[in-house]
Amino acid sequence: MPSGRTHDRVTLLSLGPTAFIAWALTHELTLSALVVGATLFGGVMFGPDLDTASRQYRRWGPFRFIWWPYRIAFAHRSRWSHGLLFGAIIRVFYFTGMVVLLAFTALYLHSVLFAGKASNLSDLLHAWQLLADHVDARLDRRAIWAAFIGLWWGAALHTLLDVLCSIGRRLLDLF
Ligand SMILES: [Zn+2]
Repeated sequence: MPSGRTHDRVTLLSLGPTAFIAWALTHELTLSALVVGATLFGGVMFGPDLDTASRQYRRWGPFRFIWWPYRIAFAHRSRWSHGLLFGAIIRVFYFTGMVVLLAFTALYLHSVLFAGKASNLSDLLHAWQLLADHVDARLDRRAIWAAFIGLWWGAALHTLLDVLCSIGRRLLDLF
């Protein structure tokens, strides 16, 4: 399989053409920048190899633990992490779920340690609802799509390179 470094290079090389296409389609600087930024992030930190102890995984540093259950749950190069259809979608849902879980835990601990009493679940849900409404009111839907498309594209480049290398190796075996 291509090394982590090769994957990084392909991600970096893709940024120029990605910016060009994003600009040609949207003619908007913010959206194009979001696509390019998300492609970079999707390639070097949010990619399919989070299913193993890879460069992508190590780059999370102290926050690596977020991906530990993901590594356990999905076999390396399974379709759930490397698939073009499911890989990025599952990672987005998984990551969002983990962030929500950590935020709830932090809020709960904060209320126990500093307010002296544990806030109940409905308080936490209410706080979460306020936050979600706030974000929803301010955020452009197209920005969410641009970010998701970038994440997907960064990961798709990884999978396509993996597949190309497998085919190349099999062809070489024929001779
Ligand atoms: Zn891979």
